[in-house]
Amino acid sequence: MKDSHGRTIDYLRISLTDRCNFRCIYCMPEEGVRQMDHDEILRFDEIVDIVQIASEMGIKRLRLTGGEPLVRKGVADLIAELNKIEGIESIAMTTNGVLLPRMAQELKAAGLSRVNISLDTLDPEQFRQITRCGSLDQTLSGIEAALEHGFEPVKVNAVTVRSLNQDFLGFAKLTIDQPLHVRFIEYMPVGESSGADGSGWGKQDVIPSDELLETINAQAVAAGLGELVPAAKHKPNGWGPARYYEFEGAQGTLGFISPLSRHFCSECNRLRLSADGKIRPCLFSDDEYDIREALNNRGKEGARELLRQAIGGKPDAHHDKVGTERKMSQIGG
Ligand code: SAM
Ligand code: SF4
Repeated sequence: MKDSHGRTIDYLRISLTDRCNFRCIYCMPEEGVRQMDHDEILRFDEIVDIVQIASEMGIKRLRLTGGEPLVRKGVADLIAELNKIEGIESIAMTTNGVLLPRMAQELKAAGLSRVNISLDTLDPEQFRQITRCGSLDQTLSGIEAALEHGFEPVKVNAVTVRSLNQDFLGFAKLTIDQPLHVRFIEYMPVGESSGADGSGWGKQDVIPSDELLETINAQAVAAGLGELVPAAKHKPNGWGPARYYEFEGAQGTLGFISPLSRHFCSECNRLRLSADGKIRPCLFSDDEYDIREALNNRGKEGARELLRQAIGGKPDAHHDKVGTERKMSQIGG
């Protein structure tokens, strides 16, 4: 399935819920967002139907996200159903990890292949400040559970924010003795954090990936760890739009994702499905296509036609537009 700019679209990110057990300051207001009513949220059978149609049109890889995907009841059952769909090669998840110690086993058995766990700081106090209600130990236990249950790869996503003064070298060290792939993601000044009710972070808080790589390299050399080299473990599939590096002999890698300083729009292969059944062709554009309505009123052919329109409507690039009407927690990152 090619879009009108010649890109192959084979990846669908599915937001399972707008709810979350954290309230990260860059993602959600403290009081939470107006929660979608139960009947606004796609039922599992609707998600399965949409994925079935999407897979017939060339979608091969899925990522479940949220809000927090693990707070949605029955998520392992959904994964098992999605896993049966012909043409779906892998199912991944982005999670804050809190519920992984409890759920990793059933998720693995259901067919979840990879997990990305979000972790922005290794400092317990700062973790509480960022998530407003989480504790660092919970997410670290989630990472441990993911490694123990053999998810491959296990990635850690860290959003980098200048005014947080995060311990980047500490993150880099995590990759030495464990098969962990830490990815630094440039903070995107959208929604909550950029507004008056958020932390007040702005464009000045974006740390361009090139600068971060230089900083980590300097710190690593000073600490006797040597320089990062382009990663030999880099694989073509499932690794996303990051540039990967590693320390010699390390088990894991460090990735740099630069949505702002180095657009990867020309390689964009994805669509997003919101929890309330809208296809969103670009993270940064508020154009949405109501696939739930199409499916329920015009059947599978209607949904197919709508998917074609959504792919046709995928912009060539975000052209430095980063604002969105929806909060990140409603889009799924
Ligand atoms: N709750 C899950 C989690 O936190 O991993 C999944 C949903 S969350 C919205 C998906 C990802 O979006 C997380 O890695 C989060 O750090 C990232 N994110 C949220 N707001 C962001 C922002 N303003 N800039 C960059 N990344 C952001
Ligand atoms: Fe929840 Fe993830 Fe948003 Fe944090 S980033 S509030 S964990 S949805």
